[in-house]
Amino acid sequence: MASPLNTTLLIIGGGPGGYVAAIRAAQLGVPTVLVEGEALGGTCLNIGCIPSKAMIHVAEQFHALQKYAAGDSPLGIRAQAPELDLAQTLSWKDAIVRRLTGGVATLLKRHQVTVVQGWARIVDGKTVDVSPVGAKGRAGAPQRIRCEHLLLATGSEPVALPFMPFGGKVISSTEALSPARLPKSLAIVGAGYIGLELGTVYRKLGVKVDVVEARDRILPAYDADLTRPVLASLKSLGVGLHLQTHVLGLSEGGQGIRIQPPKADEKVLAAEQILVAVGRKPRSRGFGLSSLVLDMNGLAVQVDDRCRTSMNGVWAIGDLTGEPMLAHRAMAQGECVAEQVAGQTRRFLPQAIPAVCFTDPEVVTAGLSPAQAGASGVEVLEGVFPLAANGRAMTLESTDGFVRVVARRDSHLIVGWQAVGRGVSELAAAFGQSLEMSACLEDVGHTIHAHPTLGEAVQEAALRALGEAIHI
Ligand code: FAD
Ligand code: NAD
Repeated sequence: MASPLNTTLLIIGGGPGGYVAAIRAAQLGVPTVLVEGEALGGTCLNIGCIPSKAMIHVAEQFHALQKYAAGDSPLGIRAQAPELDLAQTLSWKDAIVRRLTGGVATLLKRHQVTVVQGWARIVDGKTVDVSPVGAKGRAGAPQRIRCEHLLLATGSEPVALPFMPFGGKVISSTEALSPARLPKSLAIVGAGYIGLELGTVYRKLGVKVDVVEARDRILPAYDADLTRPVLASLKSLGVGLHLQTHVLGLSEGGQGIRIQPPKADEKVLAAEQILVAVGRKPRSRGFGLSSLVLDMNGLAVQVDDRCRTSMNGVWAIGDLTGEPMLAHRAMAQGECVAEQVAGQTRRFLPQAIPAVCFTDPEVVTAGLSPAQAGASGVEVLEGVFPLAANGRAMTLESTDGFVRVVARRDSHLIVGWQAVGRGVSELAAAFGQSLEMSACLEDVGHTIHAHPTLGEAVQEAALRALGEAIHI
């Protein structure tokens, strides 16, 4: 083995958690090594957030043209039936991915982070061996790296159904984002984030889509008021929804899947491909993590409010630490750890971690829902402003939806925001800022919001909670 590489901070995983930690640590003068086995940018940039949003945009454009071609548009636009050049679509999406991952590589280099390409295997809390890419799990001639601080940022991977493992016609989001060709029909298991974001993409591109969900409603992580417009949109797109339904396995002959609907006989749902989207699990196996004897929550590494594990000098961030598995949470944790390694006092105690589901319409939440606030014993006021009363929403043909604010009845301190509607993902910034800055209803209600924007619905929701809404 070559002589070991010594560093202050060693990061395993170059996803949004790991690469942000590396850049921030290097900014603060901490010698940093980042090990990545696959591609810089991790799940988010390569096979997650970015390619999925690119495909959502393609599907929206294609679908709009289809509607215009069918004469189904009040806008007065007429068009010929569109055609999809899938190879060009994928190369556009891949170019965005390359630009972003290349940008990450450049930033790391500019900050003098040492990037080691290969699979890391933990020897102990201060020592890691890195095998060259391609030698995952095999004994080769690894590079040994010694560190003062070890940051684990190995992310997550899709959960497989044991009776229907990935392979052949059973695919995960990774394959669904890079199809060689579009199937005629797609059955999706799971009506969560991935199932509905990608299900909508495939449906808008002309694929027959059926979604099978074990629970009694779609997007069970969000409250029912928020998901109602999404449900209506899925129905109008012609997505087949099979709620409270269990998947039993592939059908004999492989024409589809066997499903068990509620109070009915088992049946076969025909599908050329099956996308399994039943969640993701922390990637905590296969690289020697068990040698550290860390406190765990199932497969997730347990961390405290400083992102410290139960072992001194070993930190963990991002999907590896469990829910919510969101890129912006991983990034914020990464910065938090980097600053502590550099000697600063930091805690990871955000007021809110916004969540956005990029369905049509989009759903966004930050902080507490009325039910969550109620359950915590706080008496709350609610203000709901429908997008049907917002001029900008009308001009965007997106009047289905609303913005809702939740605030303490006694002090008017805002404790939560929710919205559903086309384009509302961009309101996440305003929601997060008002919560992080402890804004009250009066702060938002009496701020001048530009006209005409969806942001006015944010202001009006706050005013409505105060009984002062103008446009309703
Ligand atoms: P990851 O991004 O998973 O990165 C971990 C990295 O570690 C990987 O590159 C991996 O190769 C590397 N690694 C693992 N083990 C080793 C090892 N032993 N040695 C070397 N390297 C190793 N989140 C959002 O916030 N918004 C979205 O819109 C969104 N959309 C998504 C869409 C899809 C289809 C998917 C699958 C996920 C989406 N997510 C989204 C979730 C988001 O991608 C993750 O929360 C985020 O990537 C987690 O970051 P991370 O740094 O913890 O891990
Ligand atoms: P998810 O947790 O969002 O949804 C999984 C769904 O599958 C749930 O509705 C669950 O009830 C259902 N389910 C579970 N087992 C089932 C079974 N056997 N049969 C039928 N239904 C079953 O998980 P996901 O969609 O796979 O996404 C994984 C994670 O990736 C998300 O939790 C999120 O953290 C992240 N993600 C985020 C975004 C975003 O932020 N916009 C987008 C995609 C993914």
